[in-house]
Formats: sequence, C-alpha cells, structure tokens
Amino acid sequence: MSDTLPAPADPATGARRVSGVPIRLEGVTKRYPGQDRPAVDDVDLEIAAGETVMFVGPSGCGKTTLLKMVNRLIEPSSGRIHLGDEDVTAQDPDTLRRRIGYVIQAGGLFPHMTVGTNVGMVPRMLGWERPRVTARIDELLDLVGLDPEVYRDRYPRELSGGQQQRVGVARALAADPPVLLMDEPFGAVDPITRQRLQDELLRIQEELGKTIVFVTHDFDEAVKLGDRIVVFDVGARIVQYDTPEAILADPAEEYVADFVGAGATLKQLTLTRVSSLELRQVTTARAGDDAADATARARAAGDDYVVVLDHRGQPISWPTLAEVGRMGTIPATVDRRLPVVGLGSTLNDALDTMLAASQGGAVVLGRRDTLAGVVSIEAIMAAIQRTRRETAG
Ligand code: ADP
Ligand code: MG
Repeated sequence: MSDTLPAPADPATGARRVSGVPIRLEGVTKRYPGQDRPAVDDVDLEIAAGETVMFVGPSGCGKTTLLKMVNRLIEPSSGRIHLGDEDVTAQDPDTLRRRIGYVIQAGGLFPHMTVGTNVGMVPRMLGWERPRVTARIDELLDLVGLDPEVYRDRYPRELSGGQQQRVGVARALAADPPVLLMDEPFGAVDPITRQRLQDELLRIQEELGKTIVFVTHDFDEAVKLGDRIVVFDVGARIVQYDTPEAILADPAEEYVADFVGAGATLKQLTLTRVSSLELRQVTTARAGDDAADATARARAAGDDYVVVLDHRGQPISWPTLAEVGRMGTIPATVDRRLPVVGLGSTLNDALDTMLAASQGGAVVLGRRDTLAGVVSIEAIMAAIQRTRRETAG
C-alpha cells in the first residue's frame, strides 16, 4: 500500500495508469429469505482492471445486492468472487473491506467525527503511524478539491452536500484500495453539483486508474463516467454489457432503447466532452495582485475580463475589466455563481452550467481544479453544428 499518490497517466503516450485489479463474478446468486425469486440470479461478469463500469437498470433489479456481494456486506447464497488472482469468497469480510473503497449517497460520513477523522479512519485501523495518517488526510482532501487547511477540522454538518460527497470519496480512497464501489453516490445533490462531482471523479480516475463499479439510475451519468455499462433486468440478468458508444448506437433490446432515450444530437451532446473543444486561454490574475497591472495585461491580450486564481491556482471569479478598474488589488472573494466545468464534462453539462448561471461561457478546470481555459457557448454551438452536418452527410 503506498502512502503517496501515484504518478498520473503519461501525457506523451496517453497511456492510462492502472492501479486497480480485475473483478470476476462466477455464478453469483443471492436468495433473500422469504422471496420466491433470487434477487441476483446466477450472474457471470468480468470487470477489467482500471475500468469504470456502470450498473444501470430498473429499481429492484438487484444492482445494490450485486455490488454489496463484492465487498460482502451481503453474503452470496452461491457463486464465487475473485479480485485479481484471489478468490475472496471465503475471505474475512473485514479484511476484504479494507481493500475495497465504498461510497454511498450523502457520503455516509460519521457526523460526530471531523472530516479529517472520517478520512483517516481506515488507515488508522490498518495501524498507520499518526504522521503518515495526517499526511494522507491532507493529500486526499487536496485530491478531491478541498483545501485541507479549511476543511480538515470541520464537521460534516458544516459542509454542503457536494462537499460531504467529496469527503466520502476521499475516505473511500484513503488506504489506496484497488477497487472502489459506488452506489448512487451523487443521487442526493442538485444537478450542477452532481456534474462537478462527476467531473472530479473522472479526473481522479485519470490519475489513479482504480477499478470502479458505479450504480446509477441516470443513463446520462452512465454514459459520461463509464468505460463500459452493464444494463440489468430483474434478477440482475445482464441485458447488455458494452461501451457507451456501442450501447447508444445499437441497444440490445427495446427496453434498453427506451432507457437510452431519444435524439441523435442529444446523444452527441452527452458523448462529446469539453476536452475535445478548443479552449480559450485568458488572462489570469492572483488574488492580491495589482489591479491596474492585471488590466494592462488583459488589454494587451485582447481580453475583456480576467480569471482570478486563489493561492492554490483554482479559479474563484472572472471580473470584467470595468469591474477590475474599480479595484485597487484583486480580491480573494469567491464568486459562488462562477460557471465551472471540467475537461471531462459533456457538452450537455456545459450548456446546463451556462444556462444556470445566465452566462455565455464557463471556466474549465483541469488537473486538481486548476484552470485549463474558458469555453464559450459559441464553441459548443459550433461543435453541435459540426456533428449535425457529419450525421446528416
Ligand atoms: P436495486 O439496487 O437494483 O434497486 P436491490 O438489490 O436493492 O435492487 O434489490 C433487489 C431485490 O431484492 C428487490 O426485489 C428487493 O426488494 C430485494 N431485497 C433487497 N434487499 C433485501 C433484503 N435485505 N431482504 C429481502 N429482500 C431484499
Ligand atoms: Mg439500489
């Protein structure tokens, strides 16, 4: 188990880092007492190391039951489960769970413990020395985009729903488990927050390459986050297991087609990422910088606003030059309504964000929430028109 974060994907080769292990289910069945049909009926499933696999399907079809059998919160009635080369079906559930991160709705945090204590729980149980635990807590809070100085000693109730969910992810990753199980983790937050959490998960996964199994009832979320999607029907019967592109192009059954929904343009909006657009590079200023200097630099670059970064390099506001002109120094004020998307955001997300903020553009975050550029509504419309022409021609 490492206590430092691994190196990101090699930007030169684009090769994605993999720290996860494969998961293999063989004939896994769960019969709850008093039920006439198994909740999960003889499921065979292989999940490749480092992939994010999304579970979708109607309510009650057995997604949660299947997920909880992987970390043995539920004991299978029969069948075998392998992590990597190991058959874990008979392994002690407590030991197993320390190797599998688990994230549920609303983070599942302990309300009477600080954020730091919550995140450090598994490492402490594993007997890590105190300084190593402390360093790990800060490293993980940073990874999920929370300033450790600000959030380490707060209690969950002092955090927004989205921040609690971030802490939940940090806690699940604390002991660097190869596998992460997530059960509708972003189901309880508003759409814009959900989108940011999704973007963050994509970025984290880019860095870490875990094997992630993620249950959702939102097909758009499945398309956005999944390397592959499993579509289940009752009894966790696998209807289709394929890439999002393949499922959208050729749904296996009418029921999947209904689920996938309408409209080629809409699908394209969901499949196309902000990272595929050309982003605008704009003038930036740090909180505390001289305002007149920032104005001069923006004018020279032909920009009519500047993006203000905080001490960690994260964008916090984007005042117009008229607004900057009224300032002496650039303030550290955080604009709560700043429209923000990630490189992994879909064009659909980006449009939603802009509409919600009534703005014609959004700032785009790259690694660790630092600025990657700015995307405009025009760039998105142009991309949609390009796809329309391609689909039509
Ligand atoms: P999903 O997560 O896809 O909504 P679940 O795995 O929660 O589905 O449930 C699958 C089926 O098993 C449902 O019919 C549900 O009522 C039943 N079930 C789930 N948990 C229990 C339990 N603890 N005892 C009895 N039946 C259960
Ligand atoms: Mg469920």
